[in-house]
Amino acid sequence: MRKLVAGNWKMNGLMADGVARARDLAARAKAKPLACEIVLCPPATLLVPVAQAIAGSGLGLGGQDCHTAAAGPHTGDIGAPMLKDAGCSYVILGHSERRQDHKESDAIVRAKAVAAVAAGLCAIVCVGETAAERASGRTEATVVRELQNSLPPKLSAAALVVAYEPVWAIGSGRTPTAQDVGSVHARIRETLRDLAADAAAVRILYGGSVKPANARDLAAVANVDGFLVGGASLNGDEFWSIAAACG
Ligand code: PEP
Repeated sequence: MRKLVAGNWKMNGLMADGVARARDLAARAKAKPLACEIVLCPPATLLVPVAQAIAGSGLGLGGQDCHTAAAGPHTGDIGAPMLKDAGCSYVILGHSERRQDHKESDAIVRAKAVAAVAAGLCAIVCVGETAAERASGRTEATVVRELQNSLPPKLSAAALVVAYEPVWAIGSGRTPTAQDVGSVHARIRETLRDLAADAAAVRILYGGSVKPANARDLAAVANVDGFLVGGASLNGDEFWSIAAACG
C-alpha cells in the first residue's frame, strides 16, 4: 500500500509564504519524487494558488473541512464541490479542533463525509481520544465509537482515509509509544472490517506531534500507512524529512 503524508497547515499562511512553501515542496517533488503520496491542506484562501504552485509536481491538494450541504445559505462555510473545483482530491474531516471549537458531533462528521464523497473527494476522517479518556483506559473504546458513528457505510479505500490523532498529542510534543500506536491502529483495522468495503486497503494515518526525529520509528509500526502532520508541515525541511521517512 502506498503511504500517504498529509500536511495540515491549519489557519496559518498568507499568500506569499504559503505559495513559497508550496513551490519549494513542488520543486523537491520534481527533483526527487518520494515513494509516498504527499498532500498539502492549506487554508481555503490558499487552495487555488497552492494548486497552481504544485501543478505537475505529483503533490496533491486537500481542504481542511467542508459543509454537509453542497451549496446554499451557509455564510462562511465551504461546500465539497467547491473544494473539488479548486483542485482538491482530499478533505480532512472531524479534526479534533473542529470537534472541539465547532462542536462537531460524529453525526455531523458522517454527513460531511457523505457530502465529500458525493463530490468526488477522499475523506480523511480523524478520530482520537482526549487525555481524560486515555487516563481512564478508554482509548480504544473512544476510537471505535468515533469510527462507528462518524463513517458512512461501506466506503472504499479510494474514498476513505482514517487518521488516528490522540487529542493530547496534537501540538504538544508528546506522542504515544510506537507500541501504543500499533495497538490502536490494529484495533482501527479490525473495526474497519465491519465499516469499510475493503478494510485492508484503507490507509490509517497517525497524527500528533510527528517530527523528523520520531517519523521513522512511527512509520515502521504495522498498520501505520502514513501521517497527518500539523506544526511540522509548516517547515519545508521538516515536512519533507517526515515524508521521506515514509519511503
Ligand atoms: C494535527 O493537528 O492534525 C496535528 C497532527 O498537529 P501536530 O502535528 O502539530 O501535532
